[in-house]
Amino acid sequence: MCARRVEIVGGGPAGLYAARLLKLNRPDWQVTVHERMQAHADTFGFGVVLTGSTLDNLEAADPESAAGIRSAGHAGHALRLHRGVEQIMLHGARNLAIGRHALLEVLGAHARAAGVRVRTGEHVDSVTLDADVVIAADGVRSATREKLAGDLGGDLQMGRGLYLWCGAPFALTDSVFAPVRTEHGLFVAHAYPYSPERSTFLIETDEATWRGAGMETSASATPAGDSDAASLRYLERAFRAELGGCALLGNRSRWSRFATVHLDRWYHGNTVLIGDAAHTAHYTLGSGTKLALEDAIALTGNLLATEDVSTAFAEYERNRRPAVDRFQQLAARSQRWWESFGSRAHRPLPVLATGFMTRAGNLDLDRLAGNSPDLVRSALEAYRGEPVAELPADVAAWVFEQPWVHRTLDLATRIVQDPEILGEHTELDWSDPDPWSHEARAVLDAVRANPGGVVRLRGADHGAQGRIDLAERIRLELQRPVLVELPRSARDGAAAALLCGRCDLVRFTD
Ligand SMILES: Cc1cc2nc3c(=O)[nH]c(=O)nc-3n(C[C@H](O)[C@H](O)[C@H](O)COP(=O)(O)OP(=O)(O)OC[C@H]3O[C@@H](n4cnc5c(N)ncnc54)[C@H](O)[C@@H]3O)c2cc1C
Repeated sequence: MCARRVEIVGGGPAGLYAARLLKLNRPDWQVTVHERMQAHADTFGFGVVLTGSTLDNLEAADPESAAGIRSAGHAGHALRLHRGVEQIMLHGARNLAIGRHALLEVLGAHARAAGVRVRTGEHVDSVTLDADVVIAADGVRSATREKLAGDLGGDLQMGRGLYLWCGAPFALTDSVFAPVRTEHGLFVAHAYPYSPERSTFLIETDEATWRGAGMETSASATPAGDSDAASLRYLERAFRAELGGCALLGNRSRWSRFATVHLDRWYHGNTVLIGDAAHTAHYTLGSGTKLALEDAIALTGNLLATEDVSTAFAEYERNRRPAVDRFQQLAARSQRWWESFGSRAHRPLPVLATGFMTRAGNLDLDRLAGNSPDLVRSALEAYRGEPVAELPADVAAWVFEQPWVHRTLDLATRIVQDPEILGEHTELDWSDPDPWSHEARAVLDAVRANPGGVVRLRGADHGAQGRIDLAERIRLELQRPVLVELPRSARDGAAAALLCGRCDLVRFTD
C-alpha cells in the first residue's frame, strides 16, 4: 500500500490515539494532529474513568501507551452511595480514573514518540485540509459535523438536567454518589479520586432547582472561558461534608446540558468522524473516552488493512455501530435515571443502590449479588419486609416468587399469567424508551382519569425497558400499582424492576 497523508483535526483522546496507532504501524505515512489548544494543560474538565475492559482493549492495541495510561491513573477505589448519615458500599470495579490533562499528556507523548506531528495552537477547518484521509476528532461541538450535516444526517438531543464539572484538591478514598438537598432542591455529586491530590466532583441538578438557586443568573453572568464562581461557592456549602470543608475547583466549569449526538453516517468523501464528533454517550455511564479510543483502534485497523479509503471507512462504521448503539442506549437509560433521580431519592438506601447498579439494564441481579452480596440481601429484605437469612441461588426467581397483596388482590407470586385476575384495571400501550417525554405525560393523564385498580402497561417487545421506566414514574407520581407486560428475554430487567420498585407485577407475553 502506498504512503498516505493523514490530517487529524482535534488532539483529544480520539485524535491523538488514532495518530499514534497509524504512525506506529506505518512510519512511512505522514500523520499530523492539529489541536487548537496551546497545550494539553489547557483542556477542560477533571478526571475521567476507564473500565477494566477498556484498559484490556488498549493493552491489546498498544501495550506501551496502555502502560503509560495505567501509571498516570489512579486505580482501586470502591463505590459508595452516601446520603446524609447513611452510606452503602458497592463493589470496587477494575476501574481506573485519570485526569484528562494526564491522559492527553500520555497520548500526546506517545504520538510524538511514534513520529506524529502534533501541532498545538492550530484551529483548522477540516474541509480545507489537503490530505488522503481527514480524521475529524473535533469533539462534541464538531465543526466538521456541522459543515457536513447534509451528508451525515442525524440529530443532537439536549439533556433535561444540568451538570457542572468541578474538582476538589484532595483524593477521596472512594468513588462517591452523594445526593444533598438544599432549600432550593436536590443536587447530586458523582465524585471520585483520579490522582493522589485530586478528585472529580461532577454535580447535577434539575432545571427548577437550578433556577431557584439563582444559577441561571450566575451562569449567564460568567464570561466565556471562566468558571461559574457563584455556583461553585454555593455547592461548596451544600457539599461541605463530602468536601471536608475544602474549596471546589473550577476549570472552565459552567452549567451545561449533555448533548447526545447521533449520526446516520460517520463519513463523507475522504473525511471520517470519530469519538464525540460522531457520537456521545451520557457521562454517567463513563464511556465517552472509551468509545473514542475504541473508535481509533477500529478505524486505524481498517485504514491499515485496505488501500481503498471508502472501503476502510465503511468497514469502520459497520464494525463500530453495534457497540456504539448499545452504549448509547445504555447511556440514555442511565441519563434518564439520573435526570429523574429526585423522584426516587427517598427510597431505602439498599433499594436505591440496587436501582443505581441496574439502572442502565446491563447488570443482572445474580451478577450484582456475586459482587455485592450484602447490598442485594438488604434489598431483598426491603422487598419482602422481613429478614432474609441467605441469598437465594437464583435471585431473579426468588424475586418473582414473592407474594403480593393489594386491597382485595392477594397473589401468590409477582408473575401474572391471566390479567383477568386483576379485576377492573387500566390498560395502556407504551413502547417508547423515554418515560419523561411529552407523550408520556398524556399516559399519566389517562391513568389519572381512571382512578383505582392496577395499571397494566402493554406494548411491543422492543419497548420493554421503556415500559418498566414508565411504570416506575406512574408508581412514584401517582402511587398506582403497575403490571408490566414484556417478553421472557426481558426476565433479568423484570426481576430488577420488581426489586427496585419500578413495577409491582410482570406478565410474560411469550
Ligand atoms: C462531565 C463529563 C464527564 C465525563 N466523564 C467521562 C468518564 O468518566 N469516562 C469516559 O470514558 N468519558 C467521560 N466523558 C466523555 C469524554 O470526555 C469524551 O467522550 C471524550 O473526551 C471524547 O474524546 P474526543 O477525542 O472524541 O473529543 P474531545 O476530548 O472533546 O477532544 C476534541 C479536541 O478537538 C479540539 N478541536 C475541536 N475543534 C478543533 C479545530 N477546529 N481545530 C483544532 N482542534 C480542534 C478540541 O480543542 C479538543 O481538544 C465525560 C464527559 C463529560 C462532559
